[in-house]
Amino acid sequence: MKNKERIENISENQARALMTICSTSALHAMFANLLDPVCIFQNLGGALPARSDDSGWGTVEYAIEQLGLRQILLCGHSRCAAPSMRSANSQIHATVPRTANGPDSAAKLKFDDATLRSQRWLTEQIYRLSSFLDRTVHRPEITLHALWFNDDRGTLFMWSSTSERFEPADNQQIRRLLDLLSMSSERTQEVLSQLQEFSRTFLSGDN
Ligand SMILES: [Zn+2]
Repeated sequence: MKNKERIENISENQARALMTICSTSALHAMFANLLDPVCIFQNLGGALPARSDDSGWGTVEYAIEQLGLRQILLCGHSRCAAPSMRSANSQIHATVPRTANGPDSAAKLKFDDATLRSQRWLTEQIYRLSSFLDRTVHRPEITLHALWFNDDRGTLFMWSSTSERFEPADNQQIRRLLDLLSMSSERTQEVLSQLQEFSRTFLSGDN
């Protein structure tokens, strides 16, 4: 497709989802580009405000109320600087259950401390967003998704609301996510191939 056509195509298309990404992650930028058009909320760590009445929620409010978006995708990554920049004494947000990303999942997947911190960081953003949505909008209409990229191992994990932790993502799960974002089958295939290039372990086979 020529650039001009692509630009016209994009401007005619309504964004499909709101995505939060980290400013320092090239993978997040690449993934957001693949999902384009999306409404992007980007800062260091993809951090959402800690308080529900913070004006920093403006982008999220706009995406839901003005753009009518119903899918929200939060992204995190293992080499994120944001969690370690938080004061060593500050606690994880009180609403994160102690079981989330707890010792079981750590032992099973052999996560180191930095990895766990970055997953807990993303978990905290999920709970911040949930609590904001509970207070402000009719929650059942909105679907939350979260993806965590392991920068060192080239693997991708998806948040499970059932187990309240991140689990290795497979092709089918990514496909379901892309379906929810109303992606054409041609585009879905393109996204999957790109992710397969990135992820050698979990997104191989069955596509
Ligand atoms: Zn980051």
